Amino acid sequence: MLNEGLLEKLKVLTESAKYDVSCASSGIERSGKSKTGGIGNATAFGICHSWASDGRCISLLKTLMTNDCIYNCAYCVNRSDNDIKRVSMTADEVALLTIEFYRRNYIEGLFLSSAIEVNPDYTMEKIVQVLRILRMRYLFNGYIHVKAIPGADPMLIRQAGELADRMSVNIEFSSVESLKLLAPQKNPQKLFLPMAQIKQGIDEVREDFGKYRHKSKFVPAGQSTQMIVGATRDSDRSMLFSAQNLYRRFGLKRVYYSAYVPVNSDSHLPSLQTTPPLLREHRLYQADWLLRFYHFDATEILSEHEQNFDLDFDPKMNWALRNLEHFPMEINQADYRMLLRVPGIGPVSAKRIVEQRKIGTVGYDDLKKMGIVVKRAKYFITCKGLFYGDYRLEPEYLKRVFGPKPEYEQMSLFSEIHG
Ligand code: SF4
Repeated sequence: MLNEGLLEKLKVLTESAKYDVSCASSGIERSGKSKTGGIGNATAFGICHSWASDGRCISLLKTLMTNDCIYNCAYCVNRSDNDIKRVSMTADEVALLTIEFYRRNYIEGLFLSSAIEVNPDYTMEKIVQVLRILRMRYLFNGYIHVKAIPGADPMLIRQAGELADRMSVNIEFSSVESLKLLAPQKNPQKLFLPMAQIKQGIDEVREDFGKYRHKSKFVPAGQSTQMIVGATRDSDRSMLFSAQNLYRRFGLKRVYYSAYVPVNSDSHLPSLQTTPPLLREHRLYQADWLLRFYHFDATEILSEHEQNFDLDFDPKMNWALRNLEHFPMEINQADYRMLLRVPGIGPVSAKRIVEQRKIGTVGYDDLKKMGIVVKRAKYFITCKGLFYGDYRLEPEYLKRVFGPKPEYEQMSLFSEIHG
């Protein structure tokens, strides 16, 4: 049974875990029906959402194993210098909480992270224990995402990979300089070792399956990471290039970007009054989407001369405005990859265009039915040789059409009467 002491620990640890976005969305407010108190209300506990490998959205208990960290990362609320309440759960306690919450239908799985307690091996060993208890004692088949702790024995990473659905290592920054400055105890080389090991494990299972049709599993939902946006001078370009390298080198499923939220005062960090750069974070997600689904290369999205995004335009529109020589593009001739570069056309609608062209030519009236955002696309395409935009392709004009509109002060209905 769950006791008050354990729930108190959970409250502290879910609060400490909320800055990690590498399992997707933030907390949920879900009140339970129990009138007897105790665990009848999940509102206070961290529940986040993630996506299973079959695309289902699932809710997860998101917690740290401990916030008692031996490291002193400048940006982190749990750093060793901070005078905060420190608590740790045992592996049995984490497993019990997961099962009890699962039985009450609060969650479908677990996202378990941890501060570095004692040393990396000790921490990773505890994470493996949680996995063993859940999978073997409780026969829990639900989704589990755990952290791979850099510096831990590869054998422990292997054991975790055989039991977890997803694993993640947070690289936090795109440059070694930033990591050295803000997280001096983290070794940049060691960050990539577990990623390489996880990739190798996933590849081996895939190969074995191809050869023997074995159904063995190793991190079946893949691995992910997180980068913090705006805590250092790392540019958008360097973050995007890091993401591209991680996707290519380690086959990551997702890179998450987290706008920096100041929690500590430190001479190497932005001030405590800094607002989180949410729009920048949003632009990075959009650009990341272009890397993964639109066949863009990072060099095309941000050139050497542009270190950061123009926040007024999404990265695809920005690319189009810089490359107007490709437009207007004839919708009946452009290949799939070029169609993807037209603002307003996504992978699904580009496929529909290509399919439709096998039957006959695509007309302007067909575009809406195919899911194309015509009010954007019409400036960049021709249909059967006809242009439907209401002006010529001219960068300044298009910037006015698609850029932010100036804000006018709203006139009061009564200003004339009283003025
Ligand atoms: S290792 Fe660094 S980022 Fe992780 S919990 Fe400890 S202080 Fe925080």
